[in-house]
Amino acid sequence: MTSSDSATGETELQEARPPALLPPWHTPEREELQLQARRFAMEEVLPVANELDPQKGLIPASLLQRLAELGYFGITVPAEHGGLGLGVFEYCMVSEELARAWMSSASILARAQGLGTTLADADRRRDLLRRSARGEWIGAIALSEPDAGSDLAGVSTRAVLEGDEWVVTGHKRWCGNAEAADFIQVLVRERDPEEGEPRSRGLRTLLLEKERGEFPAGLSGHPIDKVGYHGFLTWDLTFDGVRIPAENVLDDANAAQGEGEIGGRVGGEIGGRVGGESAARAGMRKAKEFLDTARVHTAARAVGLARAALEDSVVYLQEREQFGHPIADFQALRFAVAEMAAQIEQSRAFYRQVAHLLDLGVPCDREAAMVKLEATEMAVRVTNQAMQLHGGNGYTTERQVERHWRDARLTTIFEGTSEIQKRIISDRMLPRSPLA
Ligand SMILES: Cc1cc2nc3c(=O)[nH]c(=O)nc-3n(C[C@H](O)[C@H](O)[C@H](O)COP(=O)(O)OP(=O)(O)OC[C@H]3O[C@@H](n4cnc5c(N)ncnc54)[C@H](O)[C@@H]3O)c2cc1C
Repeated sequence: MTSSDSATGETELQEARPPALLPPWHTPEREELQLQARRFAMEEVLPVANELDPQKGLIPASLLQRLAELGYFGITVPAEHGGLGLGVFEYCMVSEELARAWMSSASILARAQGLGTTLADADRRRDLLRRSARGEWIGAIALSEPDAGSDLAGVSTRAVLEGDEWVVTGHKRWCGNAEAADFIQVLVRERDPEEGEPRSRGLRTLLLEKERGEFPAGLSGHPIDKVGYHGFLTWDLTFDGVRIPAENVLDDANAAQGEGEIGGRVGGEIGGRVGGESAARAGMRKAKEFLDTARVHTAARAVGLARAALEDSVVYLQEREQFGHPIADFQALRFAVAEMAAQIEQSRAFYRQVAHLLDLGVPCDREAAMVKLEATEMAVRVTNQAMQLHGGNGYTTERQVERHWRDARLTTIFEGTSEIQKRIISDRMLPRSPLA
């Protein structure tokens, strides 16, 4: 990684080479998008992250505006609805670049991409999808509760239909971006499951529309003080009789309507009808695609964080001298860098492969769980190693490696813990006996 001038004996400082797009993934359009995202991340996102993250600051409106101008809120929204009309591959590729600078900037993208648009009314769906692609419909997702984390079937927030409104009462925890959002997608229990039904029966997703920067009547909350993942606040929310119009039910079967006539992966296929059973099946498929995409997106963010730690380490090892040498001369540390780079490359190859399968429409929930597991555990190891390579300076807020380390630590916990990914993978490999 370093080159030396044998006449002067001086070594020119080199930076780690950012990832290339090689065959079979390379296209000129993808390369252009990758370079654009990289330049934007390093020149515009990184300085903001370096300034604001240490103060637990929020992503500023100006940065959201730039993300919108670049079209990143609608990477996967079909072009006819104002999006870039690209796939999960491009979505993950851009997200890796952004996470290399600040994970939160990659995470906020996931709160658009057609999220919160799958209403039954086609006109509203079309309108919301356009707003989503423009970054004018950025949401929050309220699934988790104090007593329902990995086990979402345990959700107890109640929705009761009164006339033409749902009345929602309960407690949600960990809702990222709740106050700043244009909407909150809330998982509620409409009824208890009947005997013999799965525990998840009776759950529904409601769309709570709201103004940015405030909570509607009946909703209150406080931000949770996190170790990292700054850039947006994560909320503990209390719903006390919050009123939501009866028609604001989100259902992936709505998004599946008209599929085949209009392409694209997220949200608003508007037009034809798929009725009854087939609509339900199409909805299930959409819901699975959504979860799988979220897992691959998390893997890409983890790769971005690990890469940030590696790139910072490569520079630091050349700058820092001990025993009369740049510490980059010590083979133990050189080998550590080699191992970090190899692990990152492996996770990147894997997430690109799974993203490609998703773009082809190949069912791959096992692979999506595998890549989420592998890439996030890798990011924890690599950022931890990077901190070690930085010595005492790594354990300060003067360097960015501590941010990468703090943010990477979250990736094995949210979007389904590592243990839950292992459960998904093993459940597709090993039947359980009746005793289990
Ligand atoms: C910073 C942050 C942001 C978040 N953002 C959001 C958000 O925006 N919206 C949202 O809805 N949620 C969000 N979450 C919630 C997140 O998805 C949950 O924290 C996660 O799913 C784990 O749930 P839990 O914290 O309740 O842990 P628990 O489910 O209580 O798990 C505790 C431990 O038990 C293990 N475990 C649980 N069940 C099993 C099992 N069956 N087999 C083996 N091991 C098991 C877990 O892996 C874990 O190690 C966020 C969380 C954090 C920390």
